[in-house]
Amino acid sequence: METSNFLKNIIAEDIKSGKAAEIVTRFPPEPNGYLHIGHAKSICLNFDLADEFKGRTNLRFDDTNPVKEDTEYVESIKEDVKWLGYEWDGLYFASDYFDEMFNRAVLLIKRGKAYVCDLSAEEIRQTRGTLTQPGTESPCRSRSVDENLDLFERMRQGEFKDGEKVLRAKIDMASANINLRDPVLYRIAHASHHNTGDKWCIYPMYDFAHPLEDAIEGVTHSICTLEFEDHRPLYDWVVRECEMEQVPRQYEFARLNLTNTVMSKRKLKQLVDEKYVDGWDDPRMPTISGLRRRGYTPESMRNFAREIGVAKSDSVVDVKMLEHFIREDLKLKAPRTMAVLRPLKVVITNYPDGQVEMLDAEINPENPEMGTRQIPFSREIYIEQDDFMDPPPSKYYRLFPGNEVRLKHAYFIKCHEVIKDANGSIVELRCAYDPETKSGTGFTGRKVKGTIHWVDAGQAVPAEFRLYESLILDEPGAEEKSFLDLVNPDSLQLVRGFVEPNMQAAGPYDKFQFFRHGYFNVDPKHTRKDHLVFNRIVSLKSSFEVQK
Ligand code: ATP
Ligand code: MG
Repeated sequence: METSNFLKNIIAEDIKSGKAAEIVTRFPPEPNGYLHIGHAKSICLNFDLADEFKGRTNLRFDDTNPVKEDTEYVESIKEDVKWLGYEWDGLYFASDYFDEMFNRAVLLIKRGKAYVCDLSAEEIRQTRGTLTQPGTESPCRSRSVDENLDLFERMRQGEFKDGEKVLRAKIDMASANINLRDPVLYRIAHASHHNTGDKWCIYPMYDFAHPLEDAIEGVTHSICTLEFEDHRPLYDWVVRECEMEQVPRQYEFARLNLTNTVMSKRKLKQLVDEKYVDGWDDPRMPTISGLRRRGYTPESMRNFAREIGVAKSDSVVDVKMLEHFIREDLKLKAPRTMAVLRPLKVVITNYPDGQVEMLDAEINPENPEMGTRQIPFSREIYIEQDDFMDPPPSKYYRLFPGNEVRLKHAYFIKCHEVIKDANGSIVELRCAYDPETKSGTGFTGRKVKGTIHWVDAGQAVPAEFRLYESLILDEPGAEEKSFLDLVNPDSLQLVRGFVEPNMQAAGPYDKFQFFRHGYFNVDPKHTRKDHLVFNRIVSLKSSFEVQK
């Protein structure tokens, strides 16, 4: 992967040569869904480039398709961009320019560069030709300027039904670039627009609208994804033939693809609409709002976007790399604490009944500045069900009858009795502790191989933990399958357990490292005053290493 930013070189060159006095970029989402991590890459790229060269970045909604767009999406996009840590200079809507776009289309007609065509969408497709064969000219191509002006105005007045007529550029039906074979510039859509209401019933196509939007705003470097490379000649044609005063340039970079991830608003919307997930902000979604709810931080996402850089050819980035960046970000920031996800009661039979002692524990041993906390310890505690096995498999150093382990921050305990119910399931363990082994007292008398975590049963706070796996399975032959067949039926596991009593003060978006379990975020949607819900952001270990 090419991590050096080739766009930087282009911009530096343009500044040096005087081609651009000030750099203006834009992030141009269509408000037809929530933003995903791919958009985050584009946001970071556009804003960071402008920042680096002391330029400006606009947030512009590319709202030229009324049927799919909505103000809910507009609001979520603004929130996500701000949350990522960016401030736009101008906030614009393509729909603000509909009058100007219409006038530019009229100019094209007057200059003999556009015509109203009666062919249906299907007929246009059929006459477009192929990569090896030229297209066929439309019978409407020779219409007079006056007739075109009249018909275009009547299209705008609403005289025709959807699909009855379109405005097409008059370029070259034999062009080697199919995008230049008289592309459609305007289409009829009798649909209410989230911004302009019923003012318009004709709407500009992306290839016509986008260059005009860029030119109107004085964008200098219009950065888009690779699939638009073949559209660049049309982009330049529109700017030139519409006689735009300011001339933007389009540059392409490879879109972000991630393993185990679908990254298209259309598909993500389908997952939401068909209830595979709990909304756009489901913590399993690759949306910015989903990642936020999962517990990702803006810093981790920006660092990820910067690390992957921009390339000129498509590739797939391992989702483990994204996970690496959240671990890195939280390592020194997140308080460490103990949580028991699947509790098993332990009674410490030689500990005085009714006694509670407070133990000191560092909040983050890797960041001593975070200070210490106090944890209660008494005769009854919970440990993890997994931390006891009878009989123990080989190399199992945790608790089993007769074995001694260290309770993190507390004492050594040894199990001497296992209580089972009528079905033979373990319901409780009886252990004995050794008061000499208290953590922090410098006890060196003997060593134990296993250290396990626990919470005090008397004061533990009940909590719900949501553990996630990939929403999308990456299995052999995945490319041939519909993405809906690859949805992982076990992507969410819900368990109930306990956290330390001081966690009562935790609120939405607080992040913690639960000893041995990973990083967790307090879920903002399901947490209530007396009901803590934690999303596991990521487990602790990863095989992933960033290559330097
Ligand atoms: P989708 O196919 O997911 O709907 P899109 O490209 O249609 O994406 P837009 O709202 O048009 O979505 O995109 C806004 C900007 O984000 C565009 O400049 C686009 O190039 C960029 N973008 C979208 N997806 C990615 C991605 N996976 N990686 C990098 N940039 C992306
Ligand atoms: Mg799009």
